Amino acid sequence: MSEKRSIETTCIQGGWQPENGGPRQLPIYQSTTFKYATSEAMGKLFDLEAEGYFYTRLQNPTNDAVAAKICEMEGGAAAMLTSSGQAATFFSIINICSAGDHVVSSATIYGGSSNLLTVTLKRFGIESTLVDPDLPEEELAKAFKPNTKCVFAETIANPALVVLDIEKFARLAHSHGVPLIVDNTFATPINCRPIEWGADIVTHSTTKYMDGHAMTVGGCIVDSGNFDWEAHADKYPGLTTPDESYHGITYTKRFGKGAFITKATAQLMRDLGAIQSPQNAFLLNAGLESLHVRMPRHCENALKVAQYLQSREDVAWVKYPGLPGDKYYELAQKYMPDGTCGVISFGLKGGRAAAGAFMDKLKLASIATHVADARTCVLHPASHTHRQLSDEQLVEAGVDPSMIRFSVGIENVNDLIEDIRQALED
Ligand SMILES: *Cc1c(COP(=O)(O)O)cnc(C)c1O
Repeated sequence: MSEKRSIETTCIQGGWQPENGGPRQLPIYQSTTFKYATSEAMGKLFDLEAEGYFYTRLQNPTNDAVAAKICEMEGGAAAMLTSSGQAATFFSIINICSAGDHVVSSATIYGGSSNLLTVTLKRFGIESTLVDPDLPEEELAKAFKPNTKCVFAETIANPALVVLDIEKFARLAHSHGVPLIVDNTFATPINCRPIEWGADIVTHSTTKYMDGHAMTVGGCIVDSGNFDWEAHADKYPGLTTPDESYHGITYTKRFGKGAFITKATAQLMRDLGAIQSPQNAFLLNAGLESLHVRMPRHCENALKVAQYLQSREDVAWVKYPGLPGDKYYELAQKYMPDGTCGVISFGLKGGRAAAGAFMDKLKLASIATHVADARTCVLHPASHTHRQLSDEQLVEAGVDPSMIRFSVGIENVNDLIEDIRQALED
């Protein structure tokens, strides 16, 4: 990882580095455990004094190779895989927040993330304030409290397709002495690298474009290593004071830029065990190898589908940040000049009822609780992913009750447009 190479090359060559005569393909270390010659060598691992593997609930070499690839793609300092995107979000927050702490989050985030913040983390004593990310900085500043420990947002919100002004959020977080965590699932590092714009920690649901083939649920956390925990030591005692469960190690002192990820591995993986299976990491790695080829096609197809929908009389509205005239077009051009993602949303003039009828008639696009996949898929958030939200909460999350979320795949775009045409007309 010493030489700076382009992201396309990292997609293929990053991570696994075979030794002389070693396997070219990333091996699946299908082993729960690892053998050592002496009792002392093993003891050092338990004290975090030596690096190495001892039990796959904490770390596995297959997973680490894939995490290293994603880390390089995002321009981070350290990374870890998790069992799902939800686990990545959860770990990234609780690694620095405890009961009595507070999170400022964009309101336009994935439904699972808003449930995590407002229901489950609340039960753990961590409060969240959800903010409209488009508000001016001085309005957003009002959401901060003395016990605020981080800011959370998505590069491109799923499913609202709100583009985050990352620099604004980074400034806001840093002026309050806390890190910015950005869920970069929809943009992927091919289209946006939030760390370059000031984000401190990046999370992913690798289940989406990174896997790309609807094969494996997974997540990833990448730490930039840029946030100065020591400068705000009183806020982050878990990182800056001795961890008695590891014989008094202080993560920032011992691990520097690796402190955040080491703590998350040593404590959270140890105690909560949301590890990704090495089999899944292997499949994820295969997906990553073509990410840089798939993303431009997703974006190209999505723009054509969005333009087609926009040209139709029976379509009430279309949202796609890559579409000129979209509310977020300018922000998208700034942060993602090469393309945003393949997901568009739209509403039919017939509203909720027409959405169901349209979806039932689609032949190529499948109704699936999935998004950001090679195959085109479609979902009605108000009846599916966001079913548990009230109409008021839906609007707050940027979800119009008529919204159809259309995840444009990499099939031939004319076939996709014909599928939409027949579902609307025939
Ligand atoms: C799907 C998704 C998640 C959750 O990821 P899982 O892998 O399903 O747990 C988090 N954030 C975003 C933006 C997502 O699209």
